[in-house]
Amino acid sequence: MAAMIVAPKIRGFICTTAHPEGCARHVARQIDVVKSRGPITNAPKKVLVIGSSTGYGLSSRIAAAFGGGAATIGVFFEKPGAETRCGTAGWYNSAAFEREAGAAGLYARSFNGDAFSHDMKARVIDTIKAGLGQVDCVIYSLASPRRTHPDTGETFKSVLKPIGSSYTNKNLDTTTGVVNEVTLPPAEGDDVAQTVAVMGGEDWEMWMHALQDAGVLADGVVTAAYSYIGPELTWPIYKNGTIGKAKEDLERTQRALDERLAPLGGKAWISVNKALVTQASSAIPVVPLYISLLYQIMKDSGGHEDTIEQMDRLFRDRLYGNAEPQPDEAGRIRLDDLEMAADVQKTVAEQWDEVNTENLAKLGDFAGYQESFLRLFGFGLDGVDYDADTDTAVPVPSLA
Ligand code: NAD
Repeated sequence: MAAMIVAPKIRGFICTTAHPEGCARHVARQIDVVKSRGPITNAPKKVLVIGSSTGYGLSSRIAAAFGGGAATIGVFFEKPGAETRCGTAGWYNSAAFEREAGAAGLYARSFNGDAFSHDMKARVIDTIKAGLGQVDCVIYSLASPRRTHPDTGETFKSVLKPIGSSYTNKNLDTTTGVVNEVTLPPAEGDDVAQTVAVMGGEDWEMWMHALQDAGVLADGVVTAAYSYIGPELTWPIYKNGTIGKAKEDLERTQRALDERLAPLGGKAWISVNKALVTQASSAIPVVPLYISLLYQIMKDSGGHEDTIEQMDRLFRDRLYGNAEPQPDEAGRIRLDDLEMAADVQKTVAEQWDEVNTENLAKLGDFAGYQESFLRLFGFGLDGVDYDADTDTAVPVPSLA
């Protein structure tokens, strides 16, 4: 057995190590949250999650399986661990998810590789045909810095830039806790088109068309992809920036898919989720400082949610169970309702002007931010002996 002591190694906004047992604890805690709320009625029984290993996609898979009793197929791009090297957190999360699903008697299959490729879509369709027949829910939760187009072979790179003019705002160095300022140059050349090609809707559309054309979507199928809007202070870098253009394209795709799925009585949704610490969001300038302030305010008011509470609410209250999707004027589900509440945003805006390196610990929840960040990689969880050797070569059962 390959065993070693695993400690966090943080490089900027990523952690290059992950703790297998810690990740398993993190998954188990999410399962507990969902189970404590009881079964989700009218839940989908066969669910495909694209981007299922971390963040919102992992929590979607957990809510579907442990709230709704669903068979799940998960697609992700992760590195397995080896004798003397850690795998990625998403690998260990998926290994733990499958073990828990197996123990609960739930079907679970996983695919590790490039979701943007034709080959991955074909392999998943074959597995649906052989194992499940059809799926009745498809969650699209990819976050990636690049995409190789499956028809042309061209590789696109997504950038996080404002559009039109440069943007300067406060920023948090999440390694040192220093509040400084960042200036981001505006998008140039084909930055917008490249970002839309990676994070826009084309691949979601390709997945849904491939699944529908193969006859593996059940009548009444529901599909959802995730977006973010946030407060005005982040709009230059998010909503009105390059990534915002990609999210507009995702909304265009949602409308097109709605029409395409109509003959099946199907429905496509955009769910606008809350700002939370994930591997994807920690890479966005300005956002970590906003999240640190937001966490404190929402914890004080008792309204704080993590990805699992958000995804449980999506499945239980908005899509299934006693479903009331409560779409906004643009037809989107708003799970960011608590974040965007007027009183919460008023306090964030006031504190934003005040916050600096000295008062961050008092005004914001930087400690909570760091804890959340470390938890993503399996560190800081109760009941894990971080001084003991741990087996880094953990298999994902269906990939073994
Ligand atoms: P994440 O980084 O935690 O998860 C990304 C997932 O995509 C992982 O499972 C990863 O393995 C998978 N992936 C990436 N590239 C892949 C590829 N080529 N092939 C297969 N799998 C691949 O990200 P997240 O924050 O959970 O983001 C998921 C979605 O939620 C995104 O659309 C994001 O914009 C949206 N969202 C995030 C937030 C937030 O605050 N984190 C808020 C609202 C919406």
